[in-house]
Amino acid sequence: MALKLYDSLTRSLKELTPSHADGVFRFYNCGPTVYASAHIGNFRTFIVNDVIRRLLELEFGKDKIKHVRNLTDVDDKTIKRSREEGRSLADVTKQWTEKFWSDCKALNCLDPHEQPTATGHIKEQVNMIEVLMEKGNAYRGADGSVYFKIDSFPGYGALSRIKERELKITDDAADSDHKDSVSDFALWKAYKPAEDGDVRWTSPQGAGEGRPGWHIECSAMIKKHLGETIDLHTGGVDLLFPHHENEIAQSQCCNGTTMANHWYHGEHLLVNGKKMSKSDGTFYTVDDIIEKGYSAAALRYALLAGHPRKQLNFTLKSLRDAQSALSQLRKYRAGLVRTANGLIPKSPSSDFALVILALNDDLNSPGALGILFREIHLFKPSELLPEHAAEILLAIDNILFAFGLDLTESVADELAIPEEITALAEKRWAAKQSKDWAAADALRAELTEAGWSMLDRKDGYSLEPLKK
Ligand SMILES: [Zn+2]
Repeated sequence: MALKLYDSLTRSLKELTPSHADGVFRFYNCGPTVYASAHIGNFRTFIVNDVIRRLLELEFGKDKIKHVRNLTDVDDKTIKRSREEGRSLADVTKQWTEKFWSDCKALNCLDPHEQPTATGHIKEQVNMIEVLMEKGNAYRGADGSVYFKIDSFPGYGALSRIKERELKITDDAADSDHKDSVSDFALWKAYKPAEDGDVRWTSPQGAGEGRPGWHIECSAMIKKHLGETIDLHTGGVDLLFPHHENEIAQSQCCNGTTMANHWYHGEHLLVNGKKMSKSDGTFYTVDDIIEKGYSAAALRYALLAGHPRKQLNFTLKSLRDAQSALSQLRKYRAGLVRTANGLIPKSPSSDFALVILALNDDLNSPGALGILFREIHLFKPSELLPEHAAEILLAIDNILFAFGLDLTESVADELAIPEEITALAEKRWAAKQSKDWAAADALRAELTEAGWSMLDRKDGYSLEPLKK
């Protein structure tokens, strides 16, 4: 079965197919703003995109995919950070781009084929703005900024179904004096010395100096690197409005053609049932998770354990479950390697075909993992013939590729916590929560006896083996 994803524009499940004659599938996803570490909610989106990329590779072939993800390296947040720290914008964004890349590598995400930057595409953005001005879709405001005229595009709101009333509420009131309509948005922001410091470029049609608005960045980079019509555009659900709605308006008015044949949006991540928050101690970066003693692979697994189009409640317990699942997978694969004894199979075993089918059905990752573990229990390596074990091994390696789980390398440092130790720790945590200190102490003694130390935190605990 071909890969099908929910399309936010038509609100239906649609098969993904390349639309260009060269057969290359063109895929864009909105990248990070590089002014700080991305948090695990951001990475949920990037990991889901990485799984889409992998499934596309499995279906169309590695060289028939072109995947582009931008870097937003100029906007209010990056400029504010560079001014606060007294460093150049380029210096700040370089630091956080490198950090983003190293987190992506730890999480085993494939590199997109192109990672263009907004500052590297000022000319392309200015060109698009000029076309929009010539066509009457954009105008220069009294403040020197250039705005997109929403009334000029009848299709506005098709993606988000945003009503006129809501549109006005979400508007940035500060600029409303300079615009024809309160709902128009900035394509080009006139230079403000007090806010922008030395960040400025020459603006379209001699309107004065300034910098591009955030939305035009993606439109310009998509056009340059993927063309006027792409096959799939993705991002987190928070980008659907206004960002993606504005991308459609700019690109379609400028190019006169459909911007993207398919729009996919992943849902938010919650931590302990709530929005992530710094004050609750639930705003996690990849480093925070690793410092707590979990592997990046466990984080990746935990973020894929829920359906990408549903909110996922992330807890430290979900990381412990992920670690135990990865440990089972690693043991299972090692068992297959032993039984297969170097045999090369003709094709992967069909016994595990339902796993990829579930992923291809709108990325049903929890369903796919459920099937995977059901099959693992049915086909024990010690009971298989070598040929069959070799076929299953190939099927498992395809599944691990699709999920992006690298058991041989990235999990090498993973801590395998025995189930009975996790059970003791859960019991002790429950005793502590109910203030049964005597029971908690007794359970801690049992854990110490078994060679494990339990470290308590406000929001949970971690386990570490005692040094011998
Ligand atoms: Zn974008």
